[in-house]
Amino acid sequence: MNETTLASLRAKLEEIRAALMGEVKNNIQSKKDKPNEQVADIADDAAQSYDRQLMMEIGEQEWKKLRLVEEALGKIGQGQYGICAECEEPIPEARLSVIPFAEHCVGCLETIENKNN
Ligand SMILES: [Zn+2]
Repeated sequence: MNETTLASLRAKLEEIRAALMGEVKNNIQSKKDKPNEQVADIADDAAQSYDRQLMMEIGEQEWKKLRLVEEALGKIGQGQYGICAECEEPIPEARLSVIPFAEHCVGCLETIENKNN
């Protein structure tokens, strides 16, 4: 994958993350009615309960998506991005451009989904 592609996928991931985090922030703010509260201002030892709270705020599906997005961003940092977690083959760029946080190639995803059904 060339650097331009990687940079644009990284930008997409950051956009998705910002949108998800914005959703959480809005939910928390509207519930607590404290407009200046920062969602990120939470101590490390509260990370576990923060995760749970986050999951409740945005729903399980969105929360999973956020985790995948953060994982993908981490992989970019490690130079591991775009590799299928199952077969370790590169995930096609066409797939990543649609789902930049994809963990699996289409073949492995189908196998996994069939197993779950
Ligand atoms: Zn695969």
